[in-house]
Amino acid sequence: MMRLNANRFVIVGAGQSGGWAAKTLCDKNFSGEVMLIGAEEHPPYERPPLSKGLLVGRIQPSACHLWKEEQLRDAGVNVQTGRNVVAIDPTNKCISLADGGSVSYDRLLLATGARPRRLDIPGSDLDGVHYLRTIEDSLNIQRSVEKDLPVVIVGGGWIGLEVAASLHSQGAVVTVLETSDRLCGRSLPRPLGDYFFDQHIKRGVNVRLNTRIQRFDGAERVEGVVLADGTKIRASLVIVGIGVVPNSELASDAGLAVDNGILVDGRCATSDPDIFACGDVANQLFEGGRLRFESWKNAQDQGIQAAKAMLDEEVGSRDSPWFWSDQYDINFQMLGIPTLLSRVYRKGDVSQGSFADYFVEGDRLVAVAAVNCPRELREAKRAIQGLRQFDVEGLRGSAICLESH
Ligand code: NAP
Repeated sequence: MMRLNANRFVIVGAGQSGGWAAKTLCDKNFSGEVMLIGAEEHPPYERPPLSKGLLVGRIQPSACHLWKEEQLRDAGVNVQTGRNVVAIDPTNKCISLADGGSVSYDRLLLATGARPRRLDIPGSDLDGVHYLRTIEDSLNIQRSVEKDLPVVIVGGGWIGLEVAASLHSQGAVVTVLETSDRLCGRSLPRPLGDYFFDQHIKRGVNVRLNTRIQRFDGAERVEGVVLADGTKIRASLVIVGIGVVPNSELASDAGLAVDNGILVDGRCATSDPDIFACGDVANQLFEGGRLRFESWKNAQDQGIQAAKAMLDEEVGSRDSPWFWSDQYDINFQMLGIPTLLSRVYRKGDVSQGSFADYFVEGDRLVAVAAVNCPRELREAKRAIQGLRQFDVEGLRGSAICLESH
């Protein structure tokens, strides 16, 4: 039931998810005030260009902004950038800010995102050791890159691989160090991790798996990386991309239920009925379990859903998880989430740079991952969503079954 006397909805976190929530509340003519508070000095922006176009100087920071600040203000959003929220008082329904201010709310949305996991080894505070999460991080790295610069990237996940491709294209000499025996092991089945490994090696990036880093060497600036087996690798620039940690402390300090992110139900509601959460920080229900989706698409979709939930509207059903990555001339897209039990069938030709992997569990298509063939993804979408039958027998007859684990 919508409480017609609600007069202020506050959104903490002005990223992709918080931004879409604010915009949606205004588009839906919420009659009260929408306040959007963000710690950074930017209006809400998209992060995908940070490891690609912005990193190589092909686009300007403003091209990452979802809307100009004036556009949001014109839409009716009270945008407060450069302000840090330090506490929530759910009993009195108010938040405190680092600058001493406080703001009361009728409903609160936490879209606080995540921060890079830090690498805690000797030398990790040397100049030249970077993380990549914000526009400023991306610009700082971009300014340091030059031809033949030895760059070490720690972590063979999405940040690592996209940054490797971008900096290699700028003439840097790139090494990627990954602890496990495969790339993107948390999100990709082995055949696809192997595919990305081959693509980076083929282009001259040095990718080392099963690697442990002992320390960074250098006086004030980083000069090298020393591995546990004693190997030394020259590095004038290091970028660490070893995953993220959800910014859930505000929620846990306020007594909300938190476990690897803020626990939310199917309507983005937390354990407090007037506090909602969305985006990277929200640990949501998914196929009988729980999952935090750290993706652009989830941030947008869940932000919109959270806004509807705050208005007591139907939130609607969710699209299948989808994400993409551009590296070199490779456009990779994945729809759905491969399960541990799924078998992989590959159609197309890796050597021609275009193929699609179909993940089938029993007679159900659960995911498709496609390299340079987005049509296959579009065609499979309704089958993955369970809206049409998928011809599994036909697939088995026409595709190669891969060893997947
Ligand atoms: P990620 O994709 O989770 O990858 C982190 C990688 O670093 C993992 O392979 C991990 O291996 C490895 N690792 C962990 N500790 C290490 C260590 N001490 N030394 C070397 N390797 C280590 O995380 P990310 O690349 O940092 O990206 C951050 C977030 O941004 C992720 O949620 C990612 O999905 C998102 N992102 C998405 C895109 C996209 O959608 N295109 C692009 C960029 C970033 P283990 O798994 O074995 O720990």
